[in-house]
Amino acid sequence: WVRATGKLYEDVSGQSNFSGIVQDITQRKNEEQRKDDFLSIASHELKTPVTSLKGALQLLDRKKNDLANPVIPRLIAQANVSVNKITYLIDDLLNTTRTNEGQLHLNYTAFTISEMLDQCCNHLRMGGKHELVVQGDRSLKMWADEIRIDQVVVNLVNNAAKYAPDARTIYLIVEDLGASVKVSVKDNGPGISPDKVAHLFDRYYRVDYSGVQYSGLGLGLYISAEIIKKHQGEIGVDTEVGKGSTFWFTVPSRSA
Ligand code: ADP
Repeated sequence: WVRATGKLYEDVSGQSNFSGIVQDITQRKNEEQRKDDFLSIASHELKTPVTSLKGALQLLDRKKNDLANPVIPRLIAQANVSVNKITYLIDDLLNTTRTNEGQLHLNYTAFTISEMLDQCCNHLRMGGKHELVVQGDRSLKMWADEIRIDQVVVNLVNNAAKYAPDARTIYLIVEDLGASVKVSVKDNGPGISPDKVAHLFDRYYRVDYSGVQYSGLGLGLYISAEIIKKHQGEIGVDTEVGKGSTFWFTVPSRSA
């Protein structure tokens, strides 16, 4: 894509000429395209739980005079699931805006891996199909913003459950590297091809798995990377197609 600003004129021989500036705007076009794609995905992702919520509320309204009806608890559960989905989506959108505006402030405290996992478990969406196995020392301490680190772990574990639906076990591995603490989330899912890996932590980036529709906005890994960078840590992935992926991050240990 090029953008030309200037004017066309005819020279003395009658030939058309252009005088002005020609800019290569391919990169901007790609970004605009990704934003457009993102907006359409975001609208679709929000519409699905809102439609489900609306359906549940309409049915509840019709049955409001019959509170003993056994369908009522199911409708309330459906409404709750939908509201949670909407909340997660809105949180991701808000976090992205905050991150872009440099408003990600960290509130450092010391906490153990066990304490972190207790906080995370309410937000994990493994749907009973997966088991989370923790390897390493749960009493290991981290010095970080616990809420933000929970968010990263939840993103990585939920991704493992989503993209490796047939894997029974997801491993959460904790290692003390001396200068830092390393947390890895390992799945035996489909893995990711090398040409995609470089983009995984980009904003709005999603791998196109032809045929399979996974819900998501392409923001989870981007937000996770921003959180870890803000902690002066590192984030990455070791992955092999057909074998699975290990997403990991490190957070510096507290200097005495
Ligand atoms: P989202 O899940 O909303 O698409 P993310 O930023 O969390 O956004 O992930 C970006 C992309 O990385 C996903 O679309 C998916 O293709 C890929 N991905 C993330 N985690 C895994 C995983 N454990 N196994 C395979 N692919 C993954």
